[in-house]
Amino acid sequence: MSDSDMDDLFLRIIAGEIPADVVRETDRVIAIRDINPQAPTHVLVVPKTRYRNAAELAAKDPDLLAEVVRVAGEVAEQEGIAEAGYRLLFNTNSDAGQTIFHVHLHLLGGERMGGLTGGPSHG
Ligand code: AMP
Repeated sequence: MSDSDMDDLFLRIIAGEIPADVVRETDRVIAIRDINPQAPTHVLVVPKTRYRNAAELAAKDPDLLAEVVRVAGEVAEQEGIAEAGYRLLFNTNSDAGQTIFHVHLHLLGGERMGGLTGGPSHG
């Protein structure tokens, strides 16, 4: 790993250096429970290769982006929330609250969710 890889929490989890609650894994993707859940089900679906955000992932490896979304759907099935519904969310950069600059898809569900972001309204 390079020095910057050592700063990448998700690469360290993928390498087994930091424990995580892994709910699903493929050759290219890992899904872990969020340590600070914002809903009864809150799972992060993380490609094992680092891209900074969803747009970069889409541009450089669209098949991997598709796999991330597919695995999120599989986790929703596994968690028993697929039918009731769930939310998929990519935060990108600081205004959106991105804190880990290794792309990850938030899967949120298990309760009825309110407005899209809960953020300020612009009416
Ligand atoms: P974001 O703000 O979109 O970059 O999301 C980062 C997410 O990672 C947050 O929801 C954190 O709660 C979560 N997180 C931080 N550290 C860990 C960890 N060690 N294991 C699992 N989730 C984590």
